[in-house]
Amino acid sequence: MTIADALNRVRDRIADATARANRPAGSVALVAVSKTHPGEAVLEALAAGQLLFGENRVQEAAGKFPALRPAHPAMRLHLIGGLQTNKVEEAVRIADVIESLDRPKLATALAAAMRKEGRRPDLLVQVNVGDEPQKAGIARAEADAFLRLARDELGLPVIGLMCIPPAEGDPQPHFAWLASCAARHGLSVLSMGMSGDFEAAIAEGATHVRVGSAIFGARGAAG
Ligand SMILES: *Cc1c(COP(=O)(O)O)cnc(C)c1O
Repeated sequence: MTIADALNRVRDRIADATARANRPAGSVALVAVSKTHPGEAVLEALAAGQLLFGENRVQEAAGKFPALRPAHPAMRLHLIGGLQTNKVEEAVRIADVIESLDRPKLATALAAAMRKEGRRPDLLVQVNVGDEPQKAGIARAEADAFLRLARDELGLPVIGLMCIPPAEGDPQPHFAWLASCAARHGLSVLSMGMSGDFEAAIAEGATHVRVGSAIFGARGAAG
């Protein structure tokens, strides 16, 4: 299957899930996750009308995306992977949205990098909805206080929440938890759902789904 065909299949599934949830057509944005795939794959997706992309490593994104910008000014890049503080300046330079704000030290570093670079990408706070010790994301119990710190004290442009639910078990309750947390804080963006579970995320109110393998095919072990 070509990337264009795969994109159309995913778009149809998103449209169906949106309709089943009685949500307005077009209310769910597709972030095409191109990590580990070459720039040519991104170009194929662009040719098929895809404008929103996600990458999880700053270095890899910096190698692929800035060169594509002049010819594709409407393209938008989301950084969706764990972010080290020594990468924040480059992240702020190249990203339109950073989805992985998950700890006070990173919030402080992002605030400083935004001042220095004169650029303010939108931010999502990543929540560790399964309270998994090995996983990135702010703990659920700390989410309220962390949002206050990021938005009110540091003045960061936080527009929503992001999560990756546990690999095992039903993701739906985790998506529902994230949606209620966002509502409580008046946040309009909910990035949740990947190739295996985006329909369930749409049923719980996802505004952005991050889909990689269903569009670009399987990744190697590094992905
Ligand atoms: C890789 C990745 C995705 C996409 O995963 P697929 O299962 O390939 O759709 C989504 N979100 C994050 C944070 C990722 O790292």
